[in-house]
Order: sequence, then C-alpha cells, then structure tokens
Amino acid sequence: MKFTISPIQLESRGIKDQKVLQAIRQIPRELFVPKNYREVAYTDRALPIDCGQTISQPFIVAYMTEKLQLKPSDKVLEIGTGSGFQTAVLAQLVKEVYTIEIYSELSQKAQKLLTQLGYQNIFYYQGDGNLGWPEKKEFEAIILTAASKQIPKTLLEQLKTTGKMILPLEINSGEQILYLIKKLPQGKGKLQSTPLLPVRFVPLL
Ligand code: SAH
Repeated sequence: MKFTISPIQLESRGIKDQKVLQAIRQIPRELFVPKNYREVAYTDRALPIDCGQTISQPFIVAYMTEKLQLKPSDKVLEIGTGSGFQTAVLAQLVKEVYTIEIYSELSQKAQKLLTQLGYQNIFYYQGDGNLGWPEKKEFEAIILTAASKQIPKTLLEQLKTTGKMILPLEINSGEQILYLIKKLPQGKGKLQSTPLLPVRFVPLL
C-alpha cells in the first residue's frame, strides 16, 4: 500500500502545476474514504462515500484545481464539500475556502476531519449551494463538484470580474462536460466558456 498519491501518476496525465501536485501529495486520502476502501485510497479512482455520493478521482481534483490558477491571496467558493478532499487541496493553496454541502452528515464529517488535520482557513455551510454564499462575495474562483444543467446564475453573480468558475455541465442525455468559465473585464458580465473534457459527476441537487 502506498501512502501518498503518486505525483508521477498525475504528471503522466498532464498535471504540471507543482504547487497543486505538492498539495495533493500532502493529504492522506485514506482518511477521506470509508474504512473498507482504504486499501485503494491511493489509486486514481472515484470512490463511494456516505449519502450515495462520491469522492472525486485524484486526477480530476488536480485538473480542476490547476485550471483555476489560484493565488495565495484568493478566496474560493466550493459547492459540494462531500468528503472534504478537494476542500483540503484548495485550503493548501489559497487564503480562504468557503464550502457548501447539502447533506448535514457529510458536512459535519468533513468539518470534523479537516479540523483534526489542522485546517483553519475553511468555512463550512450546510445548505443549498445553488444560492452560494452572498455575504462573502465576490470570489476569485468558484468550483462545483456536482453536475448542473446550467451555470447557476446566483453563483455567477458572486464571481469576481476576471474570476474563474469550473463546473461539470450536463449537456444532453446525461452527458457531462467540464467547463471553465471566465468573467471578462470588458463587457458587462461577459463570459468566456471553454469546454475541457468529458466527466462523470453526481448531479447537483
Ligand atoms: N469534492 C467532493 C465531491 C463530492 S460529490 C469530494 O471529492 O469528496 C458532490 C457533492 O455535492 C456531494 O457530497 C453532494 O451531496 C453535494 N451536493 C449536491 N447538490 C448540492 C447542492 N445543491 N448544494 C450543496 N451540495 C450539493
């Protein structure tokens, strides 16, 4: 059994950002998965967690994080705390992470674990992520880890101009594409949308 996610595993799939690779390497993923999956915690697979949800595949976590090009001074909003693994990666890279989870069981479990691991720059909210975190806008980056049928408008309003949002969008017949959305400085709230790759996420409720 290996005790870290091998950066080589991620680099060979095109992840280049050393800060992202280092952050992922430092997080014990085995603590974020159910006990009976610990043996496979360091393989590049999505795994089931409580409430019928999943912890994302490490490659996807690395890929989404890299695409956001985060800065240490950034404030980031995450929709779908789940296990809290992606939350931990973000918290290693930015000033503050605001994370929303709809299931209280998952939110509480993640909060307990992340607190035990020593993270002090994560703020938790249990509720509907579609509404965002209006008191804390605007965010330099917003990440959704559940698939939406459209870009949630309320979240876009909470994104800073020049900020980036990354999310899986359900296009048609259940097909999902990961999109990077940039809020452009020119034009009123004009967006630049870039499709990145096909993905499979649980649906945004
Ligand atoms: N980043 C997490 C992914 C968990 S799966 C991880 O790697 O562990 C997506 C999560 O989004 C689930 O925990 C699900 O409960 C949550 N979710 C779904 N719809 C939501 C909504 N409307 N608001 C907040 N969280 C939501």
